Amino acid sequence: MRSVDVIIVGASLAAAAAAKRLVDAGLETVVLERRELPRHKICSGILSPRGHRFLLENFGPLPREALHEPTSCRGVTFHFPSMVSMPMDFFGGPTPHLHRKYSDYWAIKRSGAEVHDRTSFAGLEDNGDHVLVHARRQGEPVEYRARQVIGADGPSSLVIRSIYPDYPQSIPWFFVGQKFHDIVDCPLDPDYFHFWFHPGLGHYTWSHARDGRQIVGVGFKRGDNFAKKHEHVVDYLADKHGVRLQPHTEDEGCGENFGPSLINRYVFGKGNVLITGQAAGFLNMIGEGMSCALHSGAISGEAVVEARLRNRPVQEMYRRMIASEVRRTSDQWNPLKIAFERPHEADFPAALMALGWRDRGKVLRDLWRFIVLYKEFKWGRQMAMVAMQRPLIGGYSMRRWL
Ligand SMILES: Cc1cc2nc3c(=O)[nH]c(=O)nc-3n(C[C@H](O)[C@H](O)[C@H](O)COP(=O)(O)OP(=O)(O)OC[C@H]3O[C@@H](n4cnc5c(N)ncnc54)[C@H](O)[C@@H]3O)c2cc1C
Repeated sequence: MRSVDVIIVGASLAAAAAAKRLVDAGLETVVLERRELPRHKICSGILSPRGHRFLLENFGPLPREALHEPTSCRGVTFHFPSMVSMPMDFFGGPTPHLHRKYSDYWAIKRSGAEVHDRTSFAGLEDNGDHVLVHARRQGEPVEYRARQVIGADGPSSLVIRSIYPDYPQSIPWFFVGQKFHDIVDCPLDPDYFHFWFHPGLGHYTWSHARDGRQIVGVGFKRGDNFAKKHEHVVDYLADKHGVRLQPHTEDEGCGENFGPSLINRYVFGKGNVLITGQAAGFLNMIGEGMSCALHSGAISGEAVVEARLRNRPVQEMYRRMIASEVRRTSDQWNPLKIAFERPHEADFPAALMALGWRDRGKVLRDLWRFIVLYKEFKWGRQMAMVAMQRPLIGGYSMRRWL
């Protein structure tokens, strides 16, 4: 059995950031990844300025192979049913358009940790002074012993389920699917990520250019018909935006733990097991999760290092240190912060003020109608309540932390 300081589960961005902190502090760190690396990751690859800064500062400039075409993104354009469109540039200029298969592989290699790919985490036993980790490598059982384990294994985290078996039933889930189309004619600006606040299209609808094709994506609930929803969006884009696409050539989708950061259902682990990245619930209201995966991952690594230096319980350190990231992610749902500050690193207030007063009114009305759409979800009312209370309670509450 291999004995190390820390095992990290998952070889994505949260893992790379955690690994970097641990390796820099001299801790022997092994990363387990169930897939063969480099591995595909469903993602638009639009990086926030803060995420970009993190990558530059910690891993250096991105290699060309870690980028899609167009290689950068200027910002986000919001579209409304009233046919008002609001382009918003990122602060500090365009950011890289990440090709996750290669950017994640690059980051995990740059972290300096030892990576065991094709090795699936299967379970753990926390024995107080060490954790036994059970995994399977190409079907064969393999065991590790570590002082701490960091679960950076994404939305359907098996590390969480191994410490809180009922967790998946206690949070809202939704699904996203995207299809890739060859382009006949596409007037949507390829330098922006496009997002529709349109109740008639669904609660999460997006499109953007990638490697000469156009991606059209939709969010849907369990039991919804993805193909029909997608077809409806393609027809809408043709009718309202003059987008003409060939039938899709590829499609993909996955389940997402969307909403925990709004309702403060973050999960940070227990005992010697820390949870980080999207597994912990870090994902903002437009589905941007890379920057908070990087930052929360780094904090989980720092918490392990600090706990050892100060001889304190690692959970105590992690919960104290992660508070700033909780506040930041939760603020990105706060209507007052969005209206008067800039939690999303693109200038929504300036873009709104650039519109004439009639269009401004239409946008605010359309946004309200969009928020009301969330009532159709079982958890929608709870989300709406928290969203309304959020400005009053100062952005976030720590009551719901597990
Ligand atoms: C369609 C779509 C579009 C998106 N677009 C954007 C975007 O444009 N910008 C943005 O910032 N975010 C976007 N996101 C969100 C972003 O992809 C995630 O929030 C981010 O990747 C989370 O990083 P992570 O490191 O926490 O986990 P993940 O990236 O989910 O990585 C988890 C890793 O753990 C591995 N793993 C899982 N289980 C096991 C196991 N049992 N054993 C070993 N390994 C395991 C997985 O294979 C994976 O490599 C998008 C998401 C989707 C679905």
